[in-house]
Amino acid sequence: MSGSVVKISELIFSWKPQEAPLLNISFFEVERGEKVFLCGPSGSGKSTLLNLIGGVLSPVSGHVSILDENLAGLSSMKKDRLRGDRLGFIFQMFNLIPYLSVVDNVVLPCNFSELKKRKILEAGLTLEQEAERLLAHLRIDVDTVKNRPVTELSVGQQQRVATARALMGMPALIIADEPTSALDADTRNAFIDLLFHECQKSGSTVLF
Ligand code: ADP
Ligand code: MG
Repeated sequence: MSGSVVKISELIFSWKPQEAPLLNISFFEVERGEKVFLCGPSGSGKSTLLNLIGGVLSPVSGHVSILDENLAGLSSMKKDRLRGDRLGFIFQMFNLIPYLSVVDNVVLPCNFSELKKRKILEAGLTLEQEAERLLAHLRIDVDTVKNRPVTELSVGQQQRVATARALMGMPALIIADEPTSALDADTRNAFIDLLFHECQKSGSTVLF
């Protein structure tokens, strides 16, 4: 097994077959523990690339491997499993579930991954305890927000709830699509520091 968490070779992607490729990547690799910042103008294909890496989209040609698994060789069920077990996502619009409490939003990934659930339980914590621990580390005042609907939280708080959710069960790779676009510059830097710190502790690689 190599040390790479993401490996892309000879990738071509276009939304429509007759169009010039949006993405043409001869080689791209992210190694374990790296923090990789993808930058490019709006519309350049950053979100598309993250969706190719997440296995939500498939390339026209070329290879995408996650933790040495070639996504093209996996059934959609196995891809779902790999995504659920090994990845954590922080979405641009957070995608919190409005009818779930803060803690239930954070616990959610464990409903889709036995592995994430098992890692937490084997560490001697309940899923709720782990959710609260992560929220507290992300400087959320857990007691005041834990039973509040997520729709009543500030943008900065929603961001942290979405981050705690991505960190649940220590996924190998955290994919964050413009996670700070809703924050002002000061809050943004503090948030990135916090994200890196938590990823370091859980041994997660970050691609953002
Ligand atoms: P970025 O995240 O860098 O702003 P995107 O990956 O969202 O860029 O988009 C790259 C290009 O792909 C844009 O021109 C966008 O219009 C196009 N695109 C994005 N999603 C779709 C889609 N579902 N169908 C067709 N074209 C799309
Ligand atoms: Mg985007």
